[in-house]
Amino acid sequence: MLLKFISVFASFLFVQFLGVAQPSYFYPEAGKLDKAIPSPAEFLGYNIGSHHTRHDKIVEYFKELDRLSDRVTTKIIGETYEHRSQVVAIFTSTANHGRLEEIRKTHLAGQSTGNTASIPLIIHLGYNVHGNEPFSSEAAMLTAYYLTASQSEETERWLNEMVILMDPVINPDGRDRHSHWANMHKASPPVADPLDREHTEIWPGGRFNHYWFDLNRDWFLGTFPETRNRVKFFHHWRPYVQTDHHEMGTNASFYFDPGEDASNNPVLPDFLYKTIYPTYARYFAAATDKIGSMYFTKEAYDKLYPGYGSSYINFYGGAGFLFEQASSRGHIQETNTIPLSFAFTIRNQFVASLTTIRASLTEKNNLLKLRREFYRVAREQAAKSPIKGYVFGDANDETRTRAFLDMLLMHEIEVYENENTMLADGKKMEAGKTYYVPCEQDNYIMVRSVFEKQITYQDSSFYDASTWSLVHAYNLPYAELKTALSKNKKIHSLPKRMLPAVEKSNYAYVFEATDYNTHRAIYHLQKGGAIVQTAFRPFSTVLGGKQKNFGYGSIVLPVNLQRINPDSLYNLVKEVNDACYIPVYSLSSGYNAAGIDLGSGYVRTLKKPEIALIIGTGVAAPEAGEIWHLLDERLHMPITKIDILNLGRASLDRYNTIIMVSGNYGLIDKAATDKLKSWVQNGNTLVTIKSGAEWAIRNGFTREKLVPADSTKTNTARKDFDQAVHIEGAKAMGGSIFRVDLDTTHPIGFGFTDRRVSVYRNGLTFLAPGSNPYSTVAQYGNDPLIGGYIHASTIKRLRNSAAIVVGAEGNGRVILFSDNPNFRGTWYGTNKLFLNALFFGGITNVPSVASEQNN
Ligand SMILES: [Zn+2]
Repeated sequence: MLLKFISVFASFLFVQFLGVAQPSYFYPEAGKLDKAIPSPAEFLGYNIGSHHTRHDKIVEYFKELDRLSDRVTTKIIGETYEHRSQVVAIFTSTANHGRLEEIRKTHLAGQSTGNTASIPLIIHLGYNVHGNEPFSSEAAMLTAYYLTASQSEETERWLNEMVILMDPVINPDGRDRHSHWANMHKASPPVADPLDREHTEIWPGGRFNHYWFDLNRDWFLGTFPETRNRVKFFHHWRPYVQTDHHEMGTNASFYFDPGEDASNNPVLPDFLYKTIYPTYARYFAAATDKIGSMYFTKEAYDKLYPGYGSSYINFYGGAGFLFEQASSRGHIQETNTIPLSFAFTIRNQFVASLTTIRASLTEKNNLLKLRREFYRVAREQAAKSPIKGYVFGDANDETRTRAFLDMLLMHEIEVYENENTMLADGKKMEAGKTYYVPCEQDNYIMVRSVFEKQITYQDSSFYDASTWSLVHAYNLPYAELKTALSKNKKIHSLPKRMLPAVEKSNYAYVFEATDYNTHRAIYHLQKGGAIVQTAFRPFSTVLGGKQKNFGYGSIVLPVNLQRINPDSLYNLVKEVNDACYIPVYSLSSGYNAAGIDLGSGYVRTLKKPEIALIIGTGVAAPEAGEIWHLLDERLHMPITKIDILNLGRASLDRYNTIIMVSGNYGLIDKAATDKLKSWVQNGNTLVTIKSGAEWAIRNGFTREKLVPADSTKTNTARKDFDQAVHIEGAKAMGGSIFRVDLDTTHPIGFGFTDRRVSVYRNGLTFLAPGSNPYSTVAQYGNDPLIGGYIHASTIKRLRNSAAIVVGAEGNGRVILFSDNPNFRGTWYGTNKLFLNALFFGGITNVPSVASEQNN
């Protein structure tokens, strides 16, 4: 009853915005509030909960608090793609502000000993990582106001004994996208009908950042500047506590930790799960009971993955807290009980914020103990581990190796140069081109998370991925060492890159296709007007008295077959050398020492890709965004994003490559489907991923097939109703890592030096091996699992299925990927397969098969 009363009251407030003293709703026991400090409502001119506050207004409010009060300092830690500032604030007493740097240094020095009892406790509150979960930034403003204006004894004590860091808007671009939507559709009187446009955002919605990525997975991956700046700020302070505030379905209640017991991460100290979470839960429960809100714990959410805002800190000896609030998604929305107002959702999160602060100070000793425990457990694990360190690096691809190294440095993992060329795990690890990560280091727990491929869990249903071994995402050669190496040359920042200048050639330039930047280089040359060719067979030539091998897919630029003059070509080549860091070689003869010559028919001219990506309602925004981001940021190459509803009227002839990622393409009508089919038949390339590939197969774009569903019917064994969630949940393909065998002589496999490639699978698209013996570019084997969880029924279908198939259709082709090669912007390894499909797809034909093999 109490809940009902409160909610009705909240809804009542919603329609009675002005004239009601807001503090009495949000701060019933606030005590004296400093009149010189404007409340958010006074500053903004509307009551909190009556409007979605624009990001720039939030930044202004924090700056105003900073200007008016010695308790607050704000800082801009960076900006987003859409030029929104990333503001953070530091709340502590005036006296502490005067010695902030000293506090920080003492705190960091006492890390591994947890010996920081005598200085203020550092905690961090973080809000609004998902842009369309907007209440939390409003709650951040209320919390900021309270910390600045409250003159209560308790607040004074908090400020004297703590340093409270706050990140009010983790995803500014997404927040504004959603806030504009909610504000522009807000009605007066408000409309609570869930079908009203206010509550049904259009694609892609505000959850994501500019490139449609989920920033709440990015803490571990660091793909985005927003995350990079934030992780830097995190390590600058290494707080003891970090909060992460979210929204969930409108009919849910409120969630706080602990999460599901069975999903506790075994690499972290028991003390976190057995003491910290249950202890805090009692504070959250008491505070939430008091305002009459319903809630749940111990269900639905886990923190296994190290890249959530509520989990990253756990891997550095702190405690991350997740809050999930039922969403009003808009200003007020009907639920299956009573309407849920924006103000009500804000208040729950505001209460959670103050409760976190209160609990943290009271439980300070437990937090210090947690940190000591963390380092003790880490040292124990490192000592017990038969692996003493890892060596990694791909001598053929410095760009990809550096990207991985950069990610390790972001996590403050200790890395050293490998000074001796060695053979480890059967792999040659070259001195100077590979790196060493010792297990004996403070951040061993993070080292494990980055390198280890499989950890056994008690449970088999996951909120997200079941493995995240990043060394596989980068598809990097690496070796586990049983003996530690000496730690001599520590890497503090990415080493400078320098390539010798390219000599001018009157005949041809060549470079290998092994570097991650190969496609960026090809596009740069093509954009500059160069004719670019690729070698379908390897060759070797003698350079400076030494034989140099060029593998499948190596790039050839004949000087005298160009439409541009030799000087312009030379300038382009120098730019490739300098910007893409790909060594380009000048040849004076086309006669090669071994393999094909440069004038061979196996050297073919590439078409400049003119690419469109189908986006819009039904399309998986993150997968589409991954491609947009890849081409924009890493290739500096334009891509047209065609809305699915415009496909019918689009002139497709200006594109030679169209991409369809996972999605429900039901909005493409028959006429548009037919148009797309004849476009393929006319010689173009359709690149499809996961359910995009299934759509192409089901709609007759290709003769290629899916693996049929298991037809062997078994008896439906009777099970208890309540078991359904676990049993059926375990069948989902949450995200695991597999090995496929890649045909490195195929254009889609060009530039790979090893047939074994790691792929990420989080879907249930199973491609049958190609109808032609030469068209299965990559295939799963009999025992393909590298790391993570897969259900027995799924592995059965996966075994020996195809990972990439090229279907020849008319003069064109359909390229089918069973898995997403661009997952979360981090799968540098398989990115290359996808980019090969874009760049080499246009000249990829499926060889015809002589009749005796064809029956
Ligand atoms: Zn969320």
